[in-house]
Amino acid sequence: MSRPRLIVIAVVAVLLALAPAVLGNFGVSLLNDIGIGALVALGLVLLTGVGGATSFGQAAFVGIAAYATAWLTTVHHYSPWIGLLFALLLTGVAALAIGLLTLRLGGHFLPLSTIAWGLSIAMLFGNIEALGSHTGMSKIPALSLFGVSLVDPRAMYYLIWVVVGLAVLFCHNVLQSRSGRAIRSLRGGGILLASVGADAFRVRLALFVLAALLAGVAGWLYAYTNRFVSPSPFDVRASIEYLLMAVAGGLGQLTGALVGAAVVMVMKNALQDLLPLFTQRGGELQAVGFAILFLLLLHYARAGLMGFVVRWTHGRFAPKASSAPPDAPALAHRQLPARGTRVLAVRNAVKRFGGLVAVNDVSFDVAAGEIVGLIGPNGAGKSTMFNLLTGTAPMTSGGVEFLGEDVSGLPQRVIARRGMARTFQHVKLRPHMTLLDNVALGAHGRTGAGMLSAGLRMDRKEEAQIQAEAWRQLDRIGLASRAHELAGSLPLGTQRILEIARALAADPVLLVLDEPAAGLRRKEKQELGELLRKLRAEGVTILIVEHDMDFVMKLVDRLVVMNFGSKLTEGEPASVRANPDVQAAYLGGAVAVPAPRVDEPRKAVAGAGA
Ligand code: ADP
Ligand code: MG
Repeated sequence: MSRPRLIVIAVVAVLLALAPAVLGNFGVSLLNDIGIGALVALGLVLLTGVGGATSFGQAAFVGIAAYATAWLTTVHHYSPWIGLLFALLLTGVAALAIGLLTLRLGGHFLPLSTIAWGLSIAMLFGNIEALGSHTGMSKIPALSLFGVSLVDPRAMYYLIWVVVGLAVLFCHNVLQSRSGRAIRSLRGGGILLASVGADAFRVRLALFVLAALLAGVAGWLYAYTNRFVSPSPFDVRASIEYLLMAVAGGLGQLTGALVGAAVVMVMKNALQDLLPLFTQRGGELQAVGFAILFLLLLHYARAGLMGFVVRWTHGRFAPKASSAPPDAPALAHRQLPARGTRVLAVRNAVKRFGGLVAVNDVSFDVAAGEIVGLIGPNGAGKSTMFNLLTGTAPMTSGGVEFLGEDVSGLPQRVIARRGMARTFQHVKLRPHMTLLDNVALGAHGRTGAGMLSAGLRMDRKEEAQIQAEAWRQLDRIGLASRAHELAGSLPLGTQRILEIARALAADPVLLVLDEPAAGLRRKEKQELGELLRKLRAEGVTILIVEHDMDFVMKLVDRLVVMNFGSKLTEGEPASVRANPDVQAAYLGGAVAVPAPRVDEPRKAVAGAGA
């Protein structure tokens, strides 16, 4: 860890430890509320800030946990620690069920659905008699820890803030792990994740449950801090406050949750003190105050307060990044098939987009250890063909066999895990992640550490192996010296090469490259050619779409030519070059761009192919 960062953390920890000694009761209970709010906001920073899924229902999870433990300890007189397990179990199951039902919803429907279940759960609390209906449940016993009663808010203070500290540490560890990279890639879309063997839905579901469990811990602490629960602190208004905390502090930083919780809680208290001096309707005006804060933040400070801090300090407090690969044993390698055996067989592949037949009855084989080029004029259907054989898009009809097994209809991530790695014509990288992280993401399907083991740092051995692999692949493409730069800072051509490194981190049997040399300079193209030849020598099979004929002809063993969605011919470069049909369709440039065959404007769909 970098020194300035360590010092800041130590100072904050000491200040927090000394605070109860100098603060009055009011200050202590305010800090208690801030700590509890920070736990919920922490979940939202992960879910909304990192994962891109907005929840207006987080307070409901706080409520489920608070009510669960209150019910178990007051009605059934169980220990609050059993209550903790029960509360987390209930919150987790509820989040799992809600997540399974709603997380597939796209666009604005997900946030809207969170309002719906947020409202209904809060309403439920008020209408269940066993939970005290609208009056709630009081006489919740005090916590005790190792025989010491935590009835005093000052004692609860230490419990709350130790939990907050551990939660921040846990989330920090998760973000720096295999599952963290998947979470950070969620905004890149399901296709990107599937191409590295990950399931975006599962990643989002796990993230949703994690955020709910953090809210659950907050709810449990709430119950024993206030010793009283009622429905209103868990309604949608409270959810919006939690969201406001995350936004105010900064959705991009875990520490934003702490800062945001402090800002919102202090402001809430200030408004509660000030507004009654001017009007009797203080409660309503408080909502207006928060609305104004929300608008100001969205207009002027999308990155929240921590966003400013990061900018002002120029990353001086960022975690220190290692400048060399960790010393770790290599990840297990796949057994590559014997040279010459059939790796891929495409059988009568057809893909229709409405009236347009983008791929029309195309069949070809690829044998282990060869480089096969797929060429054809723009719009010939090459990228679509790649999408079909990698499982990125479903076929209209036809089949694909990979390593002797029928993979038609299998999800893209399953095919990827069997050893087919691809790059995209329209680059799919995470621009705000480092080169190293982007490449490490490629090893997702080869490794298995989950969120829990990452949070508890039990994944360090495997993580070191992943890092070592990522460094190795970066070194291979000559970018190891820029490992910690952001992928978005690379020129587009170099980003394509970075995608190759990501694909290689998956230890592929078959490497599928869509126009990897586009945008490269002469020398870079030469280097790419050398890399691909070296990979072939190692036994990797390569299927490549490329427009630079000079480059392709020198590189490949065989060519498959497509035109208007159909296969024109296939064969060795020399014979393809001599083929008059090919010359007419492509090499001669007589029909450089085929005319569209449907009425829809070509532009509208041109960018749609992955
Ligand atoms: P190539 O990669 O050979 O340039 P593509 O496979 O990208 O060609 O496109 C083949 C044809 O299919 C083009 O006419 C393109 O407009 C159309 N196409 C590709 N993807 C889609 C899509 N998602 N929806 C509709 N049409 C598409
Ligand atoms: Mg294409």
